[in-house]
Amino acid sequence: MHLHVPVAAYPGALLDSESLLVSYKPERGEPRGPIRKHAAPDAAPQGDCIDCKACVQVCPTGTDIREGPQLSCIQCALCIDACDEIMDKVGRPRGLINYDSFKNTERRAQGLPQKLAFVRTRTIVYMTLIGFVSSVLMWAFLNRTTADLALQPERNPLYVLLSDGGIRNTYTVHVLNKQTSPRTFAISLQGLPGAQMRWNDGRDGLKVEVPADLEETGRLFVTLPAEAAQSAFKDGAATGRLVLTDEFGASVTAELLMRGPKG
Ligand code: SF4
Repeated sequence: MHLHVPVAAYPGALLDSESLLVSYKPERGEPRGPIRKHAAPDAAPQGDCIDCKACVQVCPTGTDIREGPQLSCIQCALCIDACDEIMDKVGRPRGLINYDSFKNTERRAQGLPQKLAFVRTRTIVYMTLIGFVSSVLMWAFLNRTTADLALQPERNPLYVLLSDGGIRNTYTVHVLNKQTSPRTFAISLQGLPGAQMRWNDGRDGLKVEVPADLEETGRLFVTLPAEAAQSAFKDGAATGRLVLTDEFGASVTAELLMRGPKG
């Protein structure tokens, strides 16, 4: 199924008659025609447009802005510069193509002064919406996480009953450093008093070093000694939180669910 999105209609829907658009001034440019060096005295007066078509030639969308504002116009203003250059060469005032509104065209036709109405219901609504969206983006930017932590408990076996009665679970720990500099995280555990942790690869300390913009993975043993296990496990499960804290105090946490014998 093809979804047709009327992208070209959006600018038209966002504008009103006071919006400034690249516009041609027909009352000044028409009737257009090439410069006549030896015009008859009774010849009809000509407008400032010499019909050189420079505005059409430079237009990336091939729009002839002299036919009025069109949806194909992307408001790049190249025709303004092209027309001003021609006006300079033929000694006529710049601005035959310029930013203008429908209302101003009407005002000029009625002999009224031009004006720019920047504060309108539409612009107030737009500014409110832009302000709201900007605030949401700023909030998201300021509250973005700079690290991610994920725990994958080993399923087979769910837990190991040690000879001293302790319960050990094994987790694969994934730590993602989203910053552009390496970080060292200290690992701690909350909510499971007496629990002990160590890496299964024998590395020293409860730390993990993560290079910039990369993920580090390790297998972590979490052991609850027999006494602690007796009080911690309810219906075969005990819950704590694994906390990773970097050198600057920024931390990231993940729930750590331990499995043990039921009853
Ligand atoms: S503003 Fe750009 S796109 Fe629009 S008519 Fe002029 S040259 Fe073409």
